[in-house]
Amino acid sequence: MAGAYLAAAGINLDEEMSKIQFGSLPTAPQSSSPFYPPQTSQSSSAVRPPLSRALTKVLGVRLPRKPSSTLWDVSISDGVVEAVTPHDPAARLGLRPTSSILDAHEAFLAPSLCHAHIHLDKPFLLSDSKFSDLSITDGSFDEAMTLTTAAKERFEEEDLLRRGRALIEESLAFGVTAMRAFVEVDGTVGMMDLDAGLKLKREFEGRCEVQIVAFAQLALFSGRNGGEEVRRLMREAAGREGVDVVGSTPYVEADLDREKQNLKWIFDLALEKGKMLDLHIDYHLDVEKEPLVWDALEVLREVNWEGKAGKSVCMGHCTRLTLFEESEWRRLRESIGSMPVSFVGLPTSDLYMMRTQDGRKGTLNVSEMIEKYGFQAAVAVNNVGNAYTPQGSSDPLSVASLGVGVYQAGTKKDADVLYECVSSRAKHMLGLAHSSLDLLPGEPADFVLFEREEVAWRTKKSIAEVVYDPQSRRRTIKGGRLVA
Ligand SMILES: [Zn+2]
Repeated sequence: MAGAYLAAAGINLDEEMSKIQFGSLPTAPQSSSPFYPPQTSQSSSAVRPPLSRALTKVLGVRLPRKPSSTLWDVSISDGVVEAVTPHDPAARLGLRPTSSILDAHEAFLAPSLCHAHIHLDKPFLLSDSKFSDLSITDGSFDEAMTLTTAAKERFEEEDLLRRGRALIEESLAFGVTAMRAFVEVDGTVGMMDLDAGLKLKREFEGRCEVQIVAFAQLALFSGRNGGEEVRRLMREAAGREGVDVVGSTPYVEADLDREKQNLKWIFDLALEKGKMLDLHIDYHLDVEKEPLVWDALEVLREVNWEGKAGKSVCMGHCTRLTLFEESEWRRLRESIGSMPVSFVGLPTSDLYMMRTQDGRKGTLNVSEMIEKYGFQAAVAVNNVGNAYTPQGSSDPLSVASLGVGVYQAGTKKDADVLYECVSSRAKHMLGLAHSSLDLLPGEPADFVLFEREEVAWRTKKSIAEVVYDPQSRRRTIKGGRLVA
């Protein structure tokens, strides 16, 4: 079946495996992976490629937290790490091209990447010819809202699948095996974005874990009919099979009372439907305005979130918190205690969009939140190629790299934390099993392989090197299978 599919696409599976086994890796961009040819731009139908064979060993890799001069063999069984042992050169002898053993030729192997927060229905609006008249002219938040609303009115299943599929394929090629994907639900798009997201979730099953957030970007208690339609649709969406998370955007409400109503309503919905919760919250830099995070924590206690086994709560953006004094950070950390509350910094979007009249910018210092105060936190891409974030790609590692400069976090320890922010910490936030930088037995065999460079000494050898300079061809392994 797999062979027939690939043969129809002009691909000889054994030949391609042989290239990988013996080092003749393709040098074309990752999106032209020989295993998974990209869909044509017109295609909206789901063509589910076969998974490659399961690997039992990856030979001769460099690993995080091991001396970069040493090589290791990673044994895999049933999709998890079985053992990590010093490299045995004899294991290479007699390797057959079709073997389930992958010779990595001294490439650097690390845990795979994860999008803690990405919008699946809004990517590539600036490059898709269907929306080419909607370009940025003043670069304001209001304009971004206006342009995106105009684009949403034209959304159809065909372009939602095409753009969403491109986002997931590109992410896979960057080493992403899990993502929290936001799709909007409101009177303009109805259930269309959600249904396209759920289709893509099924299409990529086994290659990438796509967690779907039914997301109210529009107000739940302001605007047309006091938000009644959005609430009705969100309630319906939260009941759809395959929806993992619900989310809202309290700051778009008309006043503080309604922001609080929004919070209470979405917490109740998440509890009622047994979903995780993910909020876009405190997205401003107004020191006069009290952060809503305090109200969110109050609602959390009021509804007995922990007592009712409420799932994880994530708060995104939170730029207002950048104005906190040290005492307020400590108070926040104490208020959260052991509650399952985490934060996600979205620096690419914040730095572009979040600025005051006098030119001040702000984005959560996620490194400091983790290292100094002990918060659960991650960083993420948020938007790709639209008016909210025109710059950047879907590579989460590029956001970790941005963090080195923005947080002035350049030590090896900082690099480990920044990498975890787009890997294990992000997966933890999504409630998923994850592998650590130690690659311990029993952890999922979800990896990204940073391939060998033509100039051997430029081949990546450590986490710090891939965070400082993420540019590298990559291979992605999920559950012990090569998936990109
Ligand atoms: Zn977002």
